[in-house]
Amino acid sequence: MHRATKIVATIGPASTSPDILLQMLQAGLDVVRFNFSHGTADDHRQRAEIVRDAARQIGREVAIMADLQGPKIRVGKFENNKTMLVAGNPFILDANCTLGNNERCGLDYKDLPRDLRAGDVLLLNDGLIVLDVTRVIGEEIHTVVKVGGELSNNKGINRQGGGLTAPALTEKDMEDIKTAMSLGADFVAVSFPKNATDMEMARQLANIAGAPYGIKPKMIAKIERAEAIPALQGILDASDGIMVARGDLAVEVGNAAVPALQKRMIRMARESNKLVITATQMMESMIHAPVPTRAEVSDVANAVLDGTDAVMLSAETAAGKYPVTTIETMAAICVEAEKSEESQLDRDFLDRTFTRIDQSIAMGALFTAYHLGAKAVVALTESGSTALWMSRHWSHVPIFALTPRVSSERTMALYRNVTSLHVDTNMDRDAALNQALEVVVSKGYAARGDMVVLTVGEPMGQAGGTNTLKIVRVGDHI
Ligand code: PGA
Ligand code: MN
Repeated sequence: MHRATKIVATIGPASTSPDILLQMLQAGLDVVRFNFSHGTADDHRQRAEIVRDAARQIGREVAIMADLQGPKIRVGKFENNKTMLVAGNPFILDANCTLGNNERCGLDYKDLPRDLRAGDVLLLNDGLIVLDVTRVIGEEIHTVVKVGGELSNNKGINRQGGGLTAPALTEKDMEDIKTAMSLGADFVAVSFPKNATDMEMARQLANIAGAPYGIKPKMIAKIERAEAIPALQGILDASDGIMVARGDLAVEVGNAAVPALQKRMIRMARESNKLVITATQMMESMIHAPVPTRAEVSDVANAVLDGTDAVMLSAETAAGKYPVTTIETMAAICVEAEKSEESQLDRDFLDRTFTRIDQSIAMGALFTAYHLGAKAVVALTESGSTALWMSRHWSHVPIFALTPRVSSERTMALYRNVTSLHVDTNMDRDAALNQALEVVVSKGYAARGDMVVLTVGEPMGQAGGTNTLKIVRVGDHI
C-alpha cells in the first residue's frame, strides 16, 4: 500500500531493543527521533547504532532526528520528589531554593524572576497547574495557586502569552549538537526558537560540529513559542523545516488556537518549499491502550489532509506499551486519509514563481506527469532538491528519488510522497534510470505501457544540475 505521509517516532525505553526497533521500521517508521531531554551521550550513540543496524537489515535508509532540549524552563526537585498544590494557597518559585516543598520550590532558569511581574500567569506541567503571579521580590516569584494538582520534579514552566527571554540554545544544547553529529544525525530539531537568528545560530553550530564527519544536517525549527508565530516566515526561510510542536505551543497560545495555527503553518511551510512535521499527543491514548480514540484517528487524518510531511509520535513509542501497534495504526490512518485527498495541482501552481533551471524542470515534470496520467516521477538527484520541490504540491503522482548520496537518501525519508532509492556513484545514467524503472514496476506502481516521467542532470553528479525532462513508456528503451 502506498503511503505518502511519513512517520516520525521517538525512541526511548519502550523501543530501544533491536527487535522492537526492527519491528517499528517494518511497520513503517521513517524518521527516528532522539529526544535529548533524556539520556546520556552514550545512550544516544548506542541507539544510533541499533537504528542503523535495523535499517540495514530491512534494506531501507531511515533518518535520525536529534531533538535538542532547549531552554525548557523547569521547577527544581522536591523533598519527596513531588508536592501537592492546593487552589487558593500561596506558592513561591525561588531561584535560590535547592529542595522544594509545598510552600516553595527552586528554578533551573535563575533569570526567570526578571522576566515576570504581578498579573502574569504561569502554566506548569503542560498547563495542568496554573499560578497567578502576585509580586516578584528579588529572586522570589510570589504566586497564588489558581488550579492545583500534583507537581513533581523538573516539570516545565510556561508563561501564558510567551515572552520569556531564555536564549534558544543552552550550553547543554551545544554539547548535544556535538554528540548528535558524532552519531550521524540527519536532522537537528531546535526547541523554542524565537526568530530566524536563533535558527541561523543553531545551523552554524551544527555545521561546525558536523564538519569533521562531513555532515551538514537539515535544521528543523520547533514552533512552540508565542513569539515564533509572527516570526514564522523568517524562521521558515532560515530553516529546512518546522515542527508544529503542539505541546508547548498550546500552553503558550491556548489550546483552542492550535488547530488553526497548525493549518497555517503547514500551508506556509509548503509554500516556502520547506518541510513540516505535526507533533505531540497524536496517538496519546495508545501509551496505555492497543487502540486509539476516535478523536486521535481524526487528528492524524486531518494533519494528513492539511498536507503535513510527517506525523510524529512521542511518549507513544518512547515509553508506551504498544510502540509497534501504534505505528501500524498510524500508517493505516494515513493511507486511508490520503485516498480522500483532493489533488489541486493547477490551482496550487498559479502563484508560484521560480527562476532556477532545476526547479523549472521539477515543476515541468510534475505538471506533465499529472496531466499525462503518468504513474510515477523518477528524479535522479544529488541533494534531493528536485524531489523536495515536486513534493510541495498536491499531485498524487508518487515521486521516486534516485540518489548516490546516502545523506540525501536519509533526509528524503521525511519528504511527503517521496521514496528514495540508492544508486551507485559509478553507474551510468541510463543504467541507473533503467534500474529505477524496474523498481517502480516491481513495486507495482507502473506496468508495461504506462508512462513514467524522468528528470536528470547532464552531466551527472552535480547538485543543482537537473536540466533534462524525459517521458518514457515502461518497456521502451531509455
Ligand atoms: P517536546 O516538543 O516534546 O520536546 O516538548 C514537542 C512539543 O512541545 O509539542
Ligand atoms: Mn516542546
